[in-house]
Amino acid sequence: MQRYDIAIIGAGPAGLTAGLYAARDLMKTVIFEKDTAGGLIIQTDVIENYPGAPEDSSGFSLADRMRQQAVDAGCTLLYENITSVEKTGEGFVLSSAKEQYLASAVIIAGGSVPRKLDVPGEAEFTGRGVSYCATCDAMFFRGKVVGVSGGGDSAVKEANFLTRFASKVYLFHRRDELRARGEVRERILNNPKCEIMYNRTVEKINGDMKVTSVELKDTVTGEISELPLDGIFVFNGFVPDTGIFRDLVETDSDGWIITDERMRTNVPGIFAAGDVRNTVLRQVVTAAADGAVAATQAGLWVDENGGKM
Ligand SMILES: Cc1cc2nc3c(=O)[nH]c(=O)nc-3n(C[C@H](O)[C@H](O)[C@H](O)COP(=O)(O)OP(=O)(O)OC[C@H]3O[C@@H](n4cnc5c(N)ncnc54)[C@H](O)[C@@H]3O)c2cc1C
Repeated sequence: MQRYDIAIIGAGPAGLTAGLYAARDLMKTVIFEKDTAGGLIIQTDVIENYPGAPEDSSGFSLADRMRQQAVDAGCTLLYENITSVEKTGEGFVLSSAKEQYLASAVIIAGGSVPRKLDVPGEAEFTGRGVSYCATCDAMFFRGKVVGVSGGGDSAVKEANFLTRFASKVYLFHRRDELRARGEVRERILNNPKCEIMYNRTVEKINGDMKVTSVELKDTVTGEISELPLDGIFVFNGFVPDTGIFRDLVETDSDGWIITDERMRTNVPGIFAAGDVRNTVLRQVVTAAADGAVAATQAGLWVDENGGKM
């Protein structure tokens, strides 16, 4: 079994920053990633609010620089899905479908996944007009009409981005005011290609081979109407990707991992960082900061407990 001082689950901004700090602390460090290194930021066209990256700020390039920096610092990056973590007398055993690994400390940085609409047609038309990633799929909707479900920062930012491709973007928001604030909000309010439909929820997605329309409910009158369109992008918030950890560490009732300000969970030796935490702000800058704190604290824990492998 391969042995590491610190094992990090997830290579998003939190995990990659934790990896950078842990490797620079001369900890033998591994980061596991089940999908693409970079996490959620690779799904967005532009990150305009990460300090120091205002120019070449595509999510993909920022993610790639973070990955390279962590690897250059000495981290091992393994593309494996961790399916269980068990505490043993020697440390923590992390298992993937391929292998088992032993680590003295674990940092959970698994982030979150998009909350589904959970309406008829959503699963059936995913990849055929239903999307959760504008950067990945916007180009398929050049000159077409699309809808965006949501009203927070991600939804509004991505709706703005989609207007570069689509001829028209409808933004469906269940309340009478957007949750997005500031500059992002101003931009959509002044975007002539976007029509905001307040007090609307998507109830059903219709189609044949591809999406052809959505059925919308007016949350004030209860009235249902059908709107023809070619695609629907869902940005209805996120749910934590913590299924495998729920019996291991303490979470809140929604599944977000509870930590103290040093990123310690209730289990000594297990830390959590980034969006996966019960936290007040889920952004790149907070995920990176959490990762740095988690790694330094995990390093101290390894030293203090004589766990260096
Ligand atoms: C469309 C969109 C636009 C956004 N725009 C901005 C923006 O402009 N500015 C900003 O600051 N933030 C933005 N965000 C938010 C930002 O992307 C997140 O806050 C940030 O990525 C969180 O980082 P993280 O490392 O905590 O989690 P994630 O980025 O979610 O990374 C977690 C990683 O862990 C991996 N993982 C999970 N479980 C396992 C497992 N069991 N084994 C192995 N790997 C696992 C996942 O595959 C994932 O790669 C945006 C998000 C979205 C979706």
